[in-house]
Amino acid sequence: MLVLHIGVDLDNTVLDATSSYLQYYNKASGLSLAPADVNDYYFYRLYGWDNEQRKTVYHKYGYDIHWNSKPFPMAVEILQQLFEKHKISIITARPLLFHEVTVKWLKHHNIPYHNITLTENKLQECISSKVDVLIDDAPHYAEEFALQNKPIILFEQPYNSSVSNDIVYRASNWVQVIKHVDYLDSLS
Ligand SMILES: [Mg+2]
Repeated sequence: MLVLHIGVDLDNTVLDATSSYLQYYNKASGLSLAPADVNDYYFYRLYGWDNEQRKTVYHKYGYDIHWNSKPFPMAVEILQQLFEKHKISIITARPLLFHEVTVKWLKHHNIPYHNITLTENKLQECISSKVDVLIDDAPHYAEEFALQNKPIILFEQPYNSSVSNDIVYRASNWVQVIKHVDYLDSLS
């Protein structure tokens, strides 16, 4: 029997989305931002774009952005290890338009999972599918989960450093992620 139900975000949690986005956003804008410039979760704002402009660029380059993203060190190995013992649900806020490239990318990188859901309402999804812990980088999900007393493992990024709460477990790499999972497992 699988022990914990773990929700796993993709962008900037399993894979380096920042580098891939910047490559194509720089191309679209003519600017040359570097990962060190990114201090905003909504980093399209660093290009001076509004949400409509972001959508146009994202719809044009999104396939390439997602296909060319690289997994973070040890993410694949540790997800393979977690999959042996736990239920893994990929929960990403990517739009349905990019469902196919997402599934193809996961297969290409040998990342195992039981379910995949594309939704922006991660809290609702985690409640209805009884997820025990979410691994994510987004500051707004960390705040939402903490308010509901639901544990979250926050994958450290420059834009989430101000989030702090007893129920938020911070991890700066995947070895730290699995240590938090083992700890939560020991409580269950
Ligand atoms: Mg993310």
